Amino acid sequence: MIAGPPVALTIAGSDSGGGAGLQADLRTFTVCGVHGCVAVTAVTVQNSVGVAGFVEVPPSTVADQIRAVATDIGIAAAKTGMLASAAIISAVVEVCDDIGIGRSVPLVVDPVAASMHGDPLLANDALTALRSELLPRATLVTPNLDEVRLLVGVDVGSHAEQHEAARALHALGSRWVLIKGGHLSDGADDELCLDLLYDGTDFTEFTGPRLATPHTHGSGDSLAAAITSALARGAAMPEAVGYGKRYIKQAIAHAYPLGAGIGPVSPFWRVQPPWDSATHQGY
Ligand code: PLP
Repeated sequence: MIAGPPVALTIAGSDSGGGAGLQADLRTFTVCGVHGCVAVTAVTVQNSVGVAGFVEVPPSTVADQIRAVATDIGIAAAKTGMLASAAIISAVVEVCDDIGIGRSVPLVVDPVAASMHGDPLLANDALTALRSELLPRATLVTPNLDEVRLLVGVDVGSHAEQHEAARALHALGSRWVLIKGGHLSDGADDELCLDLLYDGTDFTEFTGPRLATPHTHGSGDSLAAAITSALARGAAMPEAVGYGKRYIKQAIAHAYPLGAGIGPVSPFWRVQPPWDSATHQGY
């Protein structure tokens, strides 16, 4: 019998355009060699130009999906994406406590609050639950600078403020924090992106060139999913973040246009389609 791959769970919303959300997570898990399971939190109606709306899955059904996967299949690592409401966050926290997600099973929290177009994906009153209930259980939280402002009220405009924000965010209880500086301009370093990892003692900097593409839909989800994949394989956190950064750099470099708006980052650089376009034969 062939031994199966490690298993990761995403607790996330569906993106009908297929660029972000659970669709990006599952694609990323697959090309990172991990079997992906899903607890769907919300079904969004969206395309490349925006999110027209969403319906939430009942909180008890979100919790039941997590429990069904954990009790039968088993989970090596988990991540959260769009959680939509305070009631869903509370239900997720309760079941995670029951089955050890956030303790023996690493939990990556991507604190999704809005889409790139500015459409809300999290109710305003859910921020409190995210901050006070979910973050203390997180192994890693991966905010961008907009999410940092919402979570800790720090308006990061320099690398010094990025360090200050990391300290403030770590104080909310996540074991590790990764502050993504993608949108940060700081004089001479404009062409570099600096992501800052902090564990309460040490800072680790991950720098890379700023890649010139408008097509970055799903980049936050894909980075967090790649990090989760590495954790599912047993990597330590700094190595898992390094792996995620190398993955997302290639995914952004290969991003493609789709529709009239913001296209998705690409997992395809990792796979060769077994297809001969002359004969239209595949295998
Ligand atoms: N839709 C869903 C369901 C998501 O989970 C996310 C992000 O996590 C988005 C949209 C927004 O993605 P982006 O900010 O890359 O546009």
